Amino acid sequence: MSHDNPDPGTSTDAGFLSPDAPAPEAVRAAVFDGPDAGVHVDAFPRPDLAPGAALVRINCCTVCGSDVHTYTGNRIEPTPAILGHEMVGRIAAIGGTGLTDYHGEPLAVGDRVTWSMQVTCGDCFNCTHGIPQKCTALFKYGHAAITERHALNGGLTEACHLRPGTTLFRVPEAVPDVVISPANCATATVAGAVRLAGGLDGQVVLVQGVGMLGLTAIAMADAAGATAIIALERQARRREWARAFGATEAVDPEAADADGLEAAIRRHSDGRGADVLLELTGHPDATERGLAALRTGGTGVLVGPPIRRARSTSRPKTSCGACSPSAGCTTTPTTTWRAPWRSWRLITTTIRSRP
Ligand SMILES: [Zn+2]
Ligand SMILES: [Zn+2]
Repeated sequence: MSHDNPDPGTSTDAGFLSPDAPAPEAVRAAVFDGPDAGVHVDAFPRPDLAPGAALVRINCCTVCGSDVHTYTGNRIEPTPAILGHEMVGRIAAIGGTGLTDYHGEPLAVGDRVTWSMQVTCGDCFNCTHGIPQKCTALFKYGHAAITERHALNGGLTEACHLRPGTTLFRVPEAVPDVVISPANCATATVAGAVRLAGGLDGQVVLVQGVGMLGLTAIAMADAAGATAIIALERQARRREWARAFGATEAVDPEAADADGLEAAIRRHSDGRGADVLLELTGHPDATERGLAALRTGGTGVLVGPPIRRARSTSRPKTSCGACSPSAGCTTTPTTTWRAPWRSWRLITTTIRSRP
């Protein structure tokens, strides 16, 4: 697909949200001007919609760690831009006819939807070789500069301009906005990691780092029927959250009892070690400690920047299927990383942004 739409096509518009709501002349958005310049609110013309495009009024946009990295200058993105890529909203207008969701079901104005952060061409070498997140014509919501034709590219706006080819999902009304909003990034990241781990049912799972990803991982492990979930987290408040989300134990890595993590895992694994490591801190020391806590034959999924020691091992570039490609996804789905004292099936998944 083209990223710019030379033909605006026909717009099907029943009002901004309902027949009673006046269609606004302009859409306000928070414009990010760069780490040194910050954010200002600006108004943009309501876009013309090409066939297959849509305008979605944003109900909720959650701030991802990638947004924070961009805002603070740790990650460089083109500006001016509208940040935010975890979002949910209601369709306000549709370009042309025949807009469908992921399942092929027709979508209409008023439907509550979320959508993939990425739009890919589907035809390039990477798209046809299982790494669409490396599409040579990749577009990512919340990561693109504002252009005259496509200004409303992110989530921190009243309405987002969805491009043709965007994968949409209709959202059940019973699920709150704040639960749905992270689905295309944080939730998808953890879902990809769990898939690579081969499932968590009946497993002793070590979750390292209890931020948004860690809490999601704990909840997924609990829902999947993990035998035990051990969380490793420095902050006391987050350890409480970990327990509330289903962690069997939450261990402070800096506790006076330096063997607290290993002892907890031994207790729940008959001394064997953890079956699955979900490493979400990206910290080299934590990563090495987590790998050491795996049992022989265990599986480690590293979601974060490459660790120092792993750089010296083979790291083939494949796809995790749930990553942020511009952040540099590198996945090693089946590498066995051998050490003198044991071996693991090591899965390295760089999903999160690199500073
Ligand atoms: Zn994100
Ligand atoms: Zn492509």
